[in-house]
Amino acid sequence: MSRVALRGGRLVDGSGDMGVHDLYLKDGVIEGLDLGGSVDVEHDASGTLVTPAFLDLHAHLRDPGQEVKEDLASGLAAAAAGGYGTVVSMANTDPVVDDPGLVADLVARAARTSGARLRPAAALSRGLGGEELTDFAALKAAGAVMITDDGIPVADSHLMRRACEYAAELGLMIQTHSEDPALRAKGVMNEGAVSHRLGLPGNPVEAESLMLFRDGELARMTGARVHLAHVSSKRGIEVASWLKAGGAPITIEVTPHHLTLTDESLASFDPLYKVAPPLRSAADVAYLRDALHGGVIDSIGTDHAPHTLAEKERDMLEAPFGISTIEVTFALLYTELVAAGALPLARLLHLLQDGPAAVMGWAPPRLAVGAPADIVVLDLERVREVDAAHLTSKAKHTPWQGTPLRGWPVLTVVAGAAVFERR
Ligand SMILES: [Zn+2]
Repeated sequence: MSRVALRGGRLVDGSGDMGVHDLYLKDGVIEGLDLGGSVDVEHDASGTLVTPAFLDLHAHLRDPGQEVKEDLASGLAAAAAGGYGTVVSMANTDPVVDDPGLVADLVARAARTSGARLRPAAALSRGLGGEELTDFAALKAAGAVMITDDGIPVADSHLMRRACEYAAELGLMIQTHSEDPALRAKGVMNEGAVSHRLGLPGNPVEAESLMLFRDGELARMTGARVHLAHVSSKRGIEVASWLKAGGAPITIEVTPHHLTLTDESLASFDPLYKVAPPLRSAADVAYLRDALHGGVIDSIGTDHAPHTLAEKERDMLEAPFGISTIEVTFALLYTELVAAGALPLARLLHLLQDGPAAVMGWAPPRLAVGAPADIVVLDLERVREVDAAHLTSKAKHTPWQGTPLRGWPVLTVVAGAAVFERR
């Protein structure tokens, strides 16, 4: 293995700001600070922030079977371009990742693929059918770190109860897609003044809050660790906070798009903005942003959900749900929250680093001697316009096309090797 030096960056991790140093990496781990001596590769990190690579507990990499949207190589490379060193892939692929062989195959292929580390999730029900539980023990043994039917809500409360009991026994995390399918019905956007004005079928906040309540109650009842994915509304956060305060072993995720876009975007009738759960009102976005300050929100997950342009160019009723987000998440949130003075940088970093690690029960990522050399170098002064044509993801379309954003990953290192470099 080679010896690498990142020279002259400001070193920051969840334990604090260490000041400006040369950081040395060797054999895939952090060797130390300011050691000197010869190196095989060096990077000039002066003027940048050097910090642990981000962790995403929620990305749709579309592999196997939907490689026209994304594949392991493009997805893990896109994650690296977003500053991520670890990604949990969702199981709603084709075939569904409901079999230990498919988990093992993902793990084996990811080990040969450059980019972020892969930690696959596996399906909760066979074929995401919502009827029969998968074999959690075998899926865990094959490498699955999380159980989720994400993309499809688990409608059957008894099945969800049994899933929670089974997961609790194994110490596995369950991630939910908390929307009541009957109540959201055929809604394609948030139900409210905007959906009424546009004449589009609405999906009410209560479809989320009702299901969050059920999922939180089942977590409390069974003792299972339940991660509530992509909570999108004020009411959803209120319900989840109340359950959490009452001792339910739940954690709460929010996404970059629910923090930055409102249902007014749908006035363009552009399905680029069609996502599940839907973009909410400005009041919801303001509430979510405020909630980032306290301890109630545990992590930011990208819900990176790439689709082909042809699919996203269908009409609003037919187009699939999802936005390709993983490459712009940091710059978007740095620009709109940190640079705008609405959130301290340390808090944003926490929600991308220590926060998701704690959700999973993983060690907090640190720039400490012997820790894995998974690092992102951030240029917080750099301003770039988002250009979909240059995204690494196969989904080369984005709601932020042409938007100047500030604060970009310029180098991502995984296990001591550069997996992304922005020139
Ligand atoms: Zn989901």
